[in-house]
Amino acid sequence: MRTTLSFLTFTRWILLPATLFFFSGCAGNKPQRIDLQSVKLAQKPKNIILLIGDGMALPQISAGMYWRGGLEKSVFAQFPYVGYHKSHAHDELVTDSAAGATAFACGIKTFNGAIGMKPNKKACKTILEDWEGIGKSTGIVVTCSATHATPASFIAHEDSRAFTENIALEYLNTPIDCYVGGGGYYFSKERYDHIDVKDSLRQRGYVVRNGANFKKMPMDGSAPFMLLTHDREPATASAGRTYMPNAVKEVSQYLTKRSDKGFFLLVEGSQIDWACHANDRNWLRAEMLDFEKAVQEALNFAASNGETLVIVTGDHECGGLSLNSTEAKKAFKPVFASHYHTATMVPVFAFGPQADLFKGIYENTAIYDKMKAAMPF
Ligand code: MG
Ligand code: ZN
Repeated sequence: MRTTLSFLTFTRWILLPATLFFFSGCAGNKPQRIDLQSVKLAQKPKNIILLIGDGMALPQISAGMYWRGGLEKSVFAQFPYVGYHKSHAHDELVTDSAAGATAFACGIKTFNGAIGMKPNKKACKTILEDWEGIGKSTGIVVTCSATHATPASFIAHEDSRAFTENIALEYLNTPIDCYVGGGGYYFSKERYDHIDVKDSLRQRGYVVRNGANFKKMPMDGSAPFMLLTHDREPATASAGRTYMPNAVKEVSQYLTKRSDKGFFLLVEGSQIDWACHANDRNWLRAEMLDFEKAVQEALNFAASNGETLVIVTGDHECGGLSLNSTEAKKAFKPVFASHYHTATMVPVFAFGPQADLFKGIYENTAIYDKMKAAMPF
């Protein structure tokens, strides 16, 4: 553990320019851009950070870019490799988030609503479970509940995303190293069945706390933890929710200390989707800006070691968002054509060792295949 840390410190000082260290060391409220081209990359990644913007496809990314003030300020402009995935479910052209996340987690197309389940309703082993099983450390950071479709599909196996209490219990089946996000209720005695999941987690050695403060958490890697930021769904970014970008930074460092074999971290900007369902442009704006900060923290971490593959994508488009013209010639008017998901293709951005695998146009299931090809067992 200690050797890994000192090696990281060494590579940071010797191989990377001092400016890079400066930026990675003091990312404040605004995303700090770094020169990714100067980062010396390992042959193969030791770590993978997969960031999913739920409901985020090209329209949401474009809107975020204009809201940030142009291409040179967009976090997405830094990525050297871009591809597209086709998001459709097993039997429907328009996917939901459960089938969409199961495609990333298991590499299979399944039916809408399925959590880590094949079309024949048999469980599929997820990439998080596989990597946990070979001694890598694993984590989830989201802005929804732990039981919500996207995080659930990486750790649970249910016919329906509606079985939220069961999904919480399934956190006991995989020794995930850390979780940061909402959904405290589903782990508490307040559940309808009064099962105290928090108590079971504590008996397994987890530090379980409410809030978004890492100060009392075992960030030295000494124990697994759950930081439950909200009892149910987390607040919106426009209502002052800010924990995700900092959590990406803290958790990446923590997971490095938890295993010298590397880590897998799933991050989800969950509420981009909810803003689009609600056709709420101000909510969407705040969520996109928050997600961009989280992506920047992942890039900063990856740039500090050269052995982390960062992949950013969405599970599907939502809202049929169109960037219409207005009387103000340099502005746009966001207009929604739908209250649900759409079938448009979704961009994939990659940086780090083996990032070139993510070029091209492919099925959403190929993201699983490419992650496995990039970081074999
Ligand atoms: Mg989601
Ligand atoms: Zn949705």
